[in-house]
This record gives sequence, structure tokens and C-alpha cells, in this order.
Amino acid sequence: MGKKDIIVLKFGGTSVGDINRIKKVAGRTIKSRNEGKSVVVVVSAMGDTTDRLIGLAEEITKKPSRREMDMLVSTGEQVSCSLLAIAIQEKGYESISLTGGQAGILTDQFYSNAKIINIKVDRILKELKRDRIVIVAGFQGSNLDSDITTLGRGGSDTTAVALASALKAEYCEIYTDVNGVYSTDPNMVDGAKKLESLSYDEMLELASSGAKVIHLRAVEFAKKHNVILHIRSSFNDIEGTWVMDDFKKDKRMERPMVTGVTYDIGEVKVSVFGLEDKPGIAADLFGRLAEKNINVDLIVQNVSEKNLAAISFTIKSEDMVLAKNTIDKIKNVSAEMDTNIVKVSIVGAGMQSHPGVAAKMFGILAERGINIEMISTSPIRISCVIKKSRVKEAVRVLHSGFGLEK
Ligand code: ADP
Ligand code: ASP
Ligand code: MG
Repeated sequence: MGKKDIIVLKFGGTSVGDINRIKKVAGRTIKSRNEGKSVVVVVSAMGDTTDRLIGLAEEITKKPSRREMDMLVSTGEQVSCSLLAIAIQEKGYESISLTGGQAGILTDQFYSNAKIINIKVDRILKELKRDRIVIVAGFQGSNLDSDITTLGRGGSDTTAVALASALKAEYCEIYTDVNGVYSTDPNMVDGAKKLESLSYDEMLELASSGAKVIHLRAVEFAKKHNVILHIRSSFNDIEGTWVMDDFKKDKRMERPMVTGVTYDIGEVKVSVFGLEDKPGIAADLFGRLAEKNINVDLIVQNVSEKNLAAISFTIKSEDMVLAKNTIDKIKNVSAEMDTNIVKVSIVGAGMQSHPGVAAKMFGILAERGINIEMISTSPIRISCVIKKSRVKEAVRVLHSGFGLEK
């Protein structure tokens, strides 16, 4: 068996949402196997299982320990992966389900947001050699203490791409509930257009700015290890969106100025007051947050008065309590949290060669009276923080304003 024969298929929560769907996934998996591939499947938890499990813990406390939360939520993927193996066996094929740890996925110690350090693929290869379809529980790994860790919400995509890279798979298919990556969330904007192909950098910016169709770290892995991604629907055979850097296969003549519009409702704005305006203060503040594994996104430093500065930045909502506790430990410093914000972004590789894109974005928002609270840019992305209540309107006007409609 040549290693090139391996493919990795990942099925998201909706795709394995009930027993009927799991049986359909079993069928699709067997079809790939019968086409001569060695098939590794990664599954998410069924439907909204993860949210439901988190809800159970929150009925007990608002601050459950992260270790126990990982123990709890990782069970969701164990249910779906064993059911899928059973469904495949029932159709007369050999299959085995593995937890993240059994599949050799070693992570660091950061519960609930662990990073993969290494994957020992021996076990998977051994099972593939036995002609078994291998099902791996997504979103989880195991740390050096053999404790279960999870990779952050949406992390099953990352499991799939990391495995594809470690197994040197031909490609990795992400099966989800929409036909591919669209110019904006197709469940929010009717006129959203499906994109045929994207470069890794475009997909990175879309994912990091809120297009939750694929987990950001999955794209980072794919770019780093050149894993070809195909994001497609589990409900039909329509070709989805390819993510790769092979420009010969990319039919677009020129990179569009703007490829997509995204929104991220999962962030909060933190404003920190009372900071001394001198070198080293920002390093100390962000160093403390980094130590707690809290990712910081947009940052703005406000004008200092009486030698005191204020810094505002955004973080993930789930890090809010930990961030507040961390900042409150700094002497004479206070933090305010604003949950009423959302980040809207436009992404496009062609933006680098077209001046005036930012001005146009701000103009479109201004015309609607939508106030911009923070701004950040990368070479191929512009993001604005606005009030949460205006998100739908902002995404729609930016999408049509940049001519992205079907
Ligand atoms: P899965 O459970 O399969 O991992 P997710 O819910 O994580 O699926 O991701 C798919 C969802 O991503 C879609 O239902 C869609 O609403 C949302 N989405 C947001 N932005 C985009 C986009 N630009 N293109 C496609 N889907 C998007
Ligand atoms: N089940 C996990 C979640 O809901 C991981 C995933 O679906 O990718 O976040
Ligand atoms: Mg997902």
C-alpha cells in the first residue's frame, strides 16, 4: 500500500447529526474505500452535543475546571466515532474507532485550547494495513500525563488536517452542511456566492476573521504542510471549494480585490485603564495574557492623559473571565468588558494592489450610520469592530457594496 493512497475525510456535527446521517456517512466512506483508497475518517460530535454538554456543566458552576470540561466534552466525539464504526461494520466492512490519544495525537497541557505537538501514526497505519476504515474522534488529543485535552471549538477540522499531514494523505476533505466556502455566510446572506478555489492565505484570513466553515488552525496546518483541502457538502455530490496554492489549477485570472466578507460574534472588547505610559507596560500586560494562553486580536492604544494610558483589545468571549482575573492582578489597573461588539472584515488577495479599499469599506459603513470602534488591517484583510446589533446590515451592505453577489 503506497502512502499516497491515504485520504482523510472529516464530517462535521450536522453531517453526523442523527443515525440516518451516520449511516449515509458510512456509505460514503465505504465508496471511497472501494475506489481503492485507504480511508481515515474524523468526526465531530453529533449535532449540538458539545453545546449541550457545556450547558450541563454550567448548570453546576459558571467556572468549571478546564480539565474536567475536556473530559466531559470529548465524550461527544467518542459517541459519533464509535457509532460510525458500528454502521460501517454493519454494512460488512472492517472498521475501528480510536480516541485522539489512541490515534497518537499528543498535545500540550492547555486544556480546552490545546495545540498538537506530535502525531504518532503507527497505530493508524497498522489498522489501515489490516484493511480497516479508521475512524478518529475529532477535536481531542492527549497530553503527556495521558489526560484528555481538546483543541478549541471547531477543532475537529484541525484533527483532520493534522492527520492528513502526518499520514502524507493525498488530500483532506471537509464535509459540512453548506456546499463550500462562500463570499459570505450563506446562512446570513441569500446572494452569497460559492468560491471555486482559494489560496491558503485567503482562507487563513477568512477563517481568522470569523468564517467558521473551517477552523483556523486547520488552515494553518494545511498551509504549513501543503495539505490540499476540499471543503464540500455531505448532503450532495457537488464539487466544493478547493484550498491550495496551485495556481495552475486556480482558474481565476486575477485575484479579486475582495473575495469575502466575514463577521465574528465570538469576541469581546477589553478596555484596560490606569496603565503607566512608559516602555514595558504593554509587554507586561500582553505577556500575562499570553501566559494564560489568551489570544489577543485587535489592539488600540488610546491617548494618554496625566501619564496614564488606556489600551483596548479584543479576545475570545470564552476567555473573558480569565482575562479579567489576570488583569485585575496588576496594581492600580482596571479592566472593562464590552460584550456588545462584533468584528466585520473584508478579505481579498487583490487588495494589495488596489489602493482605496479601506476608504471604500469605511464609506459603505458610514453611509448606513454604522460607527466604527476599532480598525485593524493585514495585507489582505481589513477589520472593523462595530455594535453587535448592526452586524447583519453591515455584512449585507459590504457584500453588495463590493459587488460579491451572485
Ligand atoms: P461543521 O459542523 O460541519 O464543522 P460549521 O457549523 O462549523 O460546520 O461550519 C459550517 C457553517 O459555517 C455553515 O453552516 C455557515 O453558516 C457558516 N459559514 C460562515 N461563513 C461562511 C462562509 N464564508 N462560507 C461558508 N460557510 C460559512
Ligand atoms: N464538537 C466540537 C465543537 O462543537 C468540535 C467540532 O465540532 O469541530 O466545537
Ligand atoms: Mg466546524
